[in-house]
Amino acid sequence: MERILAGQAALVTGSTSGIGLGIAKIYAEAGARVMLNGFGRPEEIAAARAEIGALMGMAEAPYSATDMSKPEEVRGMVAEAEKAFGKLDILVNNAGIQFVSPVQDFPAAKWDAIIAINLSSNFHAIAAALPGMLERKHGRILNVASAHGLVASPYKTAYVAAKHGVVGLTKSVALEIAQSPVTCNAICPGFVRTPLAEAQVKPLAEKFGVSEEAALKDHLLEKQPSKRWIEVEEVARMALYLVGPGSGGVNGSALSIDGGWLAA
Ligand code: NAD
Repeated sequence: MERILAGQAALVTGSTSGIGLGIAKIYAEAGARVMLNGFGRPEEIAAARAEIGALMGMAEAPYSATDMSKPEEVRGMVAEAEKAFGKLDILVNNAGIQFVSPVQDFPAAKWDAIIAINLSSNFHAIAAALPGMLERKHGRILNVASAHGLVASPYKTAYVAAKHGVVGLTKSVALEIAQSPVTCNAICPGFVRTPLAEAQVKPLAEKFGVSEEAALKDHLLEKQPSKRWIEVEEVARMALYLVGPGSGGVNGSALSIDGGWLAA
């Protein structure tokens, strides 16, 4: 791969799994130094650090165990990345969780956790990272929203509210920095083949008494006209374009990668 991010420093939240790990990988392949973050079993985290580290010519990639639901920790992680790299060029707000329930039964603690992790953490990380980016006259902020940042589905109130919030936050920040060399954009994926989305297949199969294959096509991917998963690498490639050279004119956008979902 062409090393279009050589010399750049990136922080990707929620990068021990799924989309975040895919983005961290493609950035490291493109020559960036990347700090990882996220939860997981110790051996999973060690494997992610070793995999990304190898691409960076290091034994292991830098890693922060920050809990994205904790505002002070989030701001501290940005400072830690700036200290480790001497700067921060790229911030990807990707960490996220999901919970599905009718609104009247939705546990308040789950609502609070989803708003904190999927939305408020983006605010805190951006607020902490932006001053340095503006000062250094270089920066790319990328928020991983969702198709659910643009349209709704039932039973996902907290997630849909948080992701709509991420799109709004993205636009507002983009306007504030529109005349600077820094950009802020959102990616809005449909269903991507990751543990977060795959975990939704089995309960649907049980609910409708059908095979997992049928649950995937007829229920989970009901709104995704392509009727196939988006692959992590496809999202990573969009994330690479948005932080790479030539993307400076894209600001405040919420870019869909959803197999046609939003076209319907
Ligand atoms: P995933 O479960 O594979 O990965 C989520 C990552 O976030 C993991 O690294 C996890 O450890 C981390 N994380 C969760 N809570 C955290 C916390 N409190 N502190 C720190 N890290 C935390 O899921 P994914 O599908 O790769 O999701 C990544 C992002 O993409 C999320 O924001 C999700 O909403 C979004 N998204 C996913 C899909 C999809 O279909 N998979 C579609 C649209 C948007």
